Amino acid sequence: MLYFIDVILPIPVENTFTYSITEAEAGFLLPGMRVAVPFGKSKVYAALVKRIHSDPPTIYEAKDIEHILDETPIVTQKQFELWSWIASYYMCTEGEVMRAALPSAFLLESETIISLEPSVQLQDEDLQDDEFLVYEALQHQPVIKIQEVMDILGKRNVLPTVKKLLEKGAVSVHEEVYEQYKPKLVTFVQLHAAYNEEVTFNALLDSLSRAPKQRELLLSFFSLKAKTHKPITTIALQKAANASSSQLKSLIEKGVFETYQKRKDRVEFQGEVQVTKTLNTHQETALNQIKESFETHNVCLLHGVTASGKTEIYVSLIEELLHTGKQILYLLPEIALTTQLISRLQNYFGEKVVVFHSKYSVHERVEVWNNVLHNALKAQIIIGARSAMLLPFYDLAFIIVDEEHESSFKQYDPAPRYHARDTAIVLGHMFNAKVVLGSATPSIETVYNAKQGKYGHVYLGHRHGDILMPEINLVDIKEKQRKREMTGHFSDVLLRAITDALALGEQVILFQNRRGFSPVLECKTCGHAPQCPNCDVSLTYHKYRNQLRCHYCGHHIAMQLKCMACGSAELTTKGFGTEQIEAELKELYPEQAIARMDSDTTRGKYGFEKIITAFEQEEIDILVGTQMLTKGLDFRNVTLVGILNADSMLNFPDFRAHERSYQLIAQVSGRAGRTEKQGKVLVQTYNPYHQILQQVSANKFEAMYEEQLDERHNFKYPPFYRLIRVTLKHRDYQKIEEASIWVAKALRQVLGTDAVLGPETPPVARIRNQYRRNVLIKIHRKQNLSQTKRLMNRVQTSFKAIPQYRSVRLIVDVDCY
Ligand code: ADP
Ligand code: ZN
Ligand code: ZN
Repeated sequence: MLYFIDVILPIPVENTFTYSITEAEAGFLLPGMRVAVPFGKSKVYAALVKRIHSDPPTIYEAKDIEHILDETPIVTQKQFELWSWIASYYMCTEGEVMRAALPSAFLLESETIISLEPSVQLQDEDLQDDEFLVYEALQHQPVIKIQEVMDILGKRNVLPTVKKLLEKGAVSVHEEVYEQYKPKLVTFVQLHAAYNEEVTFNALLDSLSRAPKQRELLLSFFSLKAKTHKPITTIALQKAANASSSQLKSLIEKGVFETYQKRKDRVEFQGEVQVTKTLNTHQETALNQIKESFETHNVCLLHGVTASGKTEIYVSLIEELLHTGKQILYLLPEIALTTQLISRLQNYFGEKVVVFHSKYSVHERVEVWNNVLHNALKAQIIIGARSAMLLPFYDLAFIIVDEEHESSFKQYDPAPRYHARDTAIVLGHMFNAKVVLGSATPSIETVYNAKQGKYGHVYLGHRHGDILMPEINLVDIKEKQRKREMTGHFSDVLLRAITDALALGEQVILFQNRRGFSPVLECKTCGHAPQCPNCDVSLTYHKYRNQLRCHYCGHHIAMQLKCMACGSAELTTKGFGTEQIEAELKELYPEQAIARMDSDTTRGKYGFEKIITAFEQEEIDILVGTQMLTKGLDFRNVTLVGILNADSMLNFPDFRAHERSYQLIAQVSGRAGRTEKQGKVLVQTYNPYHQILQQVSANKFEAMYEEQLDERHNFKYPPFYRLIRVTLKHRDYQKIEEASIWVAKALRQVLGTDAVLGPETPPVARIRNQYRRNVLIKIHRKQNLSQTKRLMNRVQTSFKAIPQYRSVRLIVDVDCY
C-alpha cells in the first residue's frame, strides 16, 4: 500500500501539496505535525501535515519528504478549521494564514550550507582574496552558512565568491533546514546522594578545611536550601558564596555536587496575586445582564462608558471560569499600549496569564505557543493582539474583545487581511465559547448587530464611583484667531485651563493626530514643497532630528535651508504635529515636565512603558500624543484633556471618518477625571457646529449612531453592504492605468455595473515607487457572498493569464477598512 500526505506550505499557493511517505512514517505522522519537504528546484520548507491518505495525486508525481520535524502535533484540528474559514472568507491561501499563525521559529526555511570538498586541494595562489578568506574559514569549521560568509567578507553580495569557489571545485553547497528555536536551559546544583548521611557529610566538611571557598559554597548551599525550599541554580549559589565558577566546578569534579538542567520559560510572572475588586451595583447589574444574554446568545456587546469599570466585569467573568480549567482569550487592539491592563490581570491571576506580544522574541513566542497547546497551569488566560487569535487553543470557553471598535483589529498587510473581532466570533462558535465585545464607543456594525438581536446588548452608563462624565467644550479657533486670542496653536481658553490644572498639581493630556513638527515645508517664493521621491506625499519636517521624513517609506533627507526648486531661503511650514505642540509648550511652560508619546518616541520593547510609567508616577505634567493616548489608559490624576484640532480627522476622505472622530474624541476625553473630580475637555476646531462635535460633546452616542446608520444606508456602506477592495500595484504608471481599467471592466461584467466602483486613485497614489489603483466592490449583505467570490476568482485567474499584466500585484481585501 502507498501512503501520502497533503501538506500546507507557508507560501501563497492555492492548494495543498501531496508528498509520498513510507509505511513507518504513515504510522507515526499525525495531522498538525511538521515535515521538511523539497519544493521547486532546490527549496526545502517546513510544511504542515493536513491529511494522511493513500490516493496518489493525479497530475504530478509525489516527491518523498525529507524528514519529520515534530514528535507530536503543534497545530490542532480546530486551527485547521479556522484557517480554512479565514482563507475562504478573506480570499487568501491557507499557507498565508499558516505563515501569520506560526511563530517564525516554526517556519523553518532552507538555508544554503557550504562545505569543503575534501578531494580537492588548492594552493593559496589559486584563490582571490575573498575566496581565500572563505576557504580558510572552512579549514576550521565543517560548514558555513551564507549569512556567515557575509560576516566573514563584510559585505552582502557574496554569491560571486561562492560561485568561483564552486567552479574551482573547492567547495560544495547544499540546502539544509535549520531550527531556530532553542529552549532556554538553566543549570541547577544538588548535593551528591552519598553525602546525605550526617557522618559522611561531616567527614566532607572536615576534608574541605583547607579549601575555605569550597567550604563556604557547601554551607551557602544549605542556607539557601533552608531559606527558599526551591531548587538552587549554579548562579544563585555562586552569588551567595561569592565564589567563582571554577571554585564551584572543582566541587562538581570532586563529586560533591551534581548539576542538572531544566527548561525555563523566558516569560514568567513574578509578583504577588491580589484579590479582585468588589463590583459596584451598576457593574453587578451589567454582569448579570451579560450572563443572562448568554443563555440565548453567544455574543454580547458590553457598551460601557469610559471608566465605568468594564475591565472589572471581564475579570469577574474570567474568575467564574477559572475552576473549569478552560481557556480564556482576551484580545486587545495593541498589546504594546496595554501594559497597565496586563499588570492588572497578572495581579489578579498570576501565572495563569500569558501574554502574546508582538515585541517578544521568536523564542518567547514558541514558549507561549507550547503553553497554550499543553499547559493549562501557565496559559489559561491568554492576552494578545490580533494574532493571538491564531494560537493553538485546546479548550476555549470565553473570548473578550476589548475596545472592539478599534480599526487595528483589521490586518491590513500582508494577507490574511482578517478582522480579529469578526474572526473571534467564528472561533468562539467553533468552540461553543461565549464572546463579549466591549467598548465605550462601539462600532456602528456591532451596535447594529446588537439592535438586530444577533448579539446580546448591555449598557453601562455610570462611571465607577459615580463620577460625572467629562465636560466637553468646543473652542472656535476661527473666532479666536479673529480676536487674536491664539498663542501659537493654543487658544486662550485652553492655556488658561492648562495653567489652572497645573496650579492644582493635576496632569494634562493634549491630543494631536499627527506626529512630527509639520507635514509640509513650503517655499514662499515659488510654492514648491519637498516631496518623497518614492511616494506621492510631501515630506514631514522633524525639527528634533533636523530632517524631512516620509511617513510612508521612511525616506529622509537633511532639513533644507533653501528651496530646492528656486533657491529662495524663505521657507514656511504648514500644518502641525505633536513635535511642534511639544516645542510650543516648552516655551509656554518652561518649568513643567513635558513629554511626547507618538511612534517617534516609543520605539523599542519598553518604549511605551517608560512614558506611561513616568506619567503614572506623575513625573510628567503634560503629555502630548497621537491616538496612542486613546487606548484605554487609566491615569488617576488627569483632569484636563485638550484636542488641538478636530478638523483634520473629521475631513478625512473615508466613510468611517465621522464615526472614527466621535470614537477618538470620546476615548481621549475618557482619560480625564477618572477617579474623583469631573474631567474637563476642550476641543479646538474651525467648525464647532459640525454635528459630530455637537454629538460627542453632549455624549449623544445614540444620535450619532442613528445619523451615521442613515448615511451608511443611503450610500450603500456597511453594515448594509459588504465592501471588497481590489488594489493593483505596479511601478509603471501606464501599466497600472490600463490594468485597473481592465479589472474594473471585467468585474462589472460578472458582478453588474452597480456593484463595482472605480478604478480610482487612492489619496496617496504612489508608495515605495508602486503606483496604486483601487476598485471597490459593494454587495448587499443578503447577497450570496461565495458566489461573488467565485466570480471574482474567475476574473483574477483571467487577469493573471494576460502576459503583460503578469507583474501587476493584485490584492484583495474583504471587509476593507
Ligand atoms: P473602563 O475600562 O470601563 O474604562 P476601568 O476598568 O479601567 O474602566 O476602570 C476605571 C477605574 O475605576 C480603574 O482605575 C479601576 O480600577 C476602577 N474601578 C472600576 N471598578 C471598580 C470597583 N468595582 N471597585 C474599585 N475600583 C474600581
Ligand atoms: Zn522656491
Ligand atoms: Zn516615501
